[in-house]
Amino acid sequence: MHDELSNDPIAGFSRRRFLQGTSGALLAAGAMSPVLAGSRNASTTGSRQGGAASGAAMNEASGGGHFGTEGQRLPKEATSVPDSLGGRPMPEVEYRYPAPPEKRLGWAIVGLGDFALNEILPAFGACEHSKITALVSGDRDKAREVGSRFGIGEEGLYDYESFDEIADNDDVDIVYIIVPNAFHADLTVRAARAGKHVLCEKPMAPTVAECERMISACRDNDRKLMIAYREQFEPHNLAAIRMIQEGRIGDLRQINAHHGRELDPSSPEDQWRMRRDLAGGGSLYDIGIYSLNAARYLSGEEPVEVWGNVSNKPDDPRFAEVEDTMCFWLRFPSGVFAECSSSYSVSSSKRGTVNGSKGTLSLDPLSEYRRHKLTVSDGKEMCEQIIEEDNQFAAEMDHMSLCVRDDGTPKTPGEEGLQDIRIITAIYEAAWTGKSVTIDSDYSRSPEDFLRGREDITPK
Ligand code: NAD
Repeated sequence: MHDELSNDPIAGFSRRRFLQGTSGALLAAGAMSPVLAGSRNASTTGSRQGGAASGAAMNEASGGGHFGTEGQRLPKEATSVPDSLGGRPMPEVEYRYPAPPEKRLGWAIVGLGDFALNEILPAFGACEHSKITALVSGDRDKAREVGSRFGIGEEGLYDYESFDEIADNDDVDIVYIIVPNAFHADLTVRAARAGKHVLCEKPMAPTVAECERMISACRDNDRKLMIAYREQFEPHNLAAIRMIQEGRIGDLRQINAHHGRELDPSSPEDQWRMRRDLAGGGSLYDIGIYSLNAARYLSGEEPVEVWGNVSNKPDDPRFAEVEDTMCFWLRFPSGVFAECSSSYSVSSSKRGTVNGSKGTLSLDPLSEYRRHKLTVSDGKEMCEQIIEEDNQFAAEMDHMSLCVRDDGTPKTPGEEGLQDIRIITAIYEAAWTGKSVTIDSDYSRSPEDFLRGREDITPK
């Protein structure tokens, strides 16, 4: 029986409380299973004063007087264990329970593609403040199939024509746009006009003008707009930001960031990525944006000058419309320099290194869906930081839900997405002209802002 108890987390909790809340003698007794079992037996017989004789017999039976004084009995009021089957009041639990369903914000998922189906929908299982209440898809059968798994009936299913009717659905507070980049702006504007708040996937939109249109539509309709920069909610990245801010690698000097993968024309999710009109651009738009965004949040600064250079294999049909490899450089006001790249023709790699005057910090991978790694070196020794992994997508969505619930400002608002598109546009210009381009923007964030949404993450 005692073994069963020690494997049960709730029983384990109760035992911890018992040990903390009793005297030293009881601590010793409680920690040793035969005596504890003996005490329980004594208690269930109700013989509190059963006395020396039975106590002595028990001690004898359990090896004889090694623990406690002969004849000592556990006073009944020392525990709250009932004599028959019963239930304890709700204890303090280590797991954070979700808010009751009626208090969670309702989300509509727009686009049921690879990322939505494989990462976002499952992440709702880890959300505390968010629930799925509607689906938008051009394929009704797929929407029905997915809806049936999440308890969403016909009344919560929309296609792209009927999308505006979502205005009448009070179960939807937030719309999450997860379709090809060229459609982000129109859908955001329609969602805002329908009275819904918006989380939109990165890259925000192909052009600066479209980003500005999205921001205006949300502002005019008094709706919140957030861009889905999940790695700004990812614990290893947050720990890295905090360590840099605390000066753990000295003065920041230089950053390297690279994101690459092989673009696969046989995958539906990569087919629109080969089309400039749907994707906006190539590897820079799709994954180089992680290198760029990381250089910005790791340095805590906004670049003032950029350079770029493209490399495309001329005979590769994948790169007829969009770029394969982009190398780009960013100069920050403090003198920090970032050397970044993205590629659609290399095996998967997503890493970043920050070099300071006293050490180096490395995230490899930097922007995976899971299993990140953060190492820090003081120039002599490399040390991996042990940081608890959790669900970055759930953290990101819950942050948005809480912003809507509490009228807060999203950590990665439309202006954050616009800043990346502004810089990306300048990098393309630099690559085409062969000259550096200065960035004209007054966008900035405070050091506290970079840590917002995950203040709980503290590296050792
Ligand atoms: P995907 O092709 O798998 O999904 C796109 C969805 O849009 C599909 O359901 C498709 O049917 C639908 N769609 C509607 N009209 C379409 C059209 N004309 N052409 C193509 N698809 C159309 O793509 P994905 O990889 O899921 O990417 C979707 C969005 O999510 C993109 O903006 C992408 O950048 C973003 N994304 C973000 C992350 C991240 O980690 N934050 C990861 C992957 C994708």
